Amino acid sequence: MSTDCIFCKIIKGELKAKFVYENDKVVVIEDINPQAPVHILIIPRKHIATPMEIEDNDKDILSAVFQAARHVAKERKIDSSGFRTVLNCMEGAGQSVFHIHFHLLGGRQMQWPPG
Ligand code: 5GP
Ligand code: ZN
Repeated sequence: MSTDCIFCKIIKGELKAKFVYENDKVVVIEDINPQAPVHILIIPRKHIATPMEIEDNDKDILSAVFQAARHVAKERKIDSSGFRTVLNCMEGAGQSVFHIHFHLLGGRQMQWPPG
């Protein structure tokens, strides 16, 4: 838990967000600035600042992330058309919130390579 982290505040209910799904390991919210018809954030409840701080015993969290991704993909009907999961690691990759979160993007054709 980090007291000045916006995602910790959302998880604690101190900041508002549109919750889509949650379980004991992750919360799932709508991104405030969507880049696709479906753009949600899967956020571990545990404060992990960057992917470089993920530990071997965080396996259950990563498993829960993809369980949530499958659940939401089905609910939003993008499980067959496809979706992209993105985990940005540090500024050079575009990370702007230092509490790890997986973007789940879908509902339109994705381009490659990403910008
Ligand atoms: P990053 O750039 O760190 O990979 O992604 C951060 C994401 O969090 C961005 O897509 C941004 O729109 C989203 N975001 C930032 N602040 C908030 C917020 O207060 N609420 C919600 N729902 N999303 C946020
Ligand atoms: Zn946090």
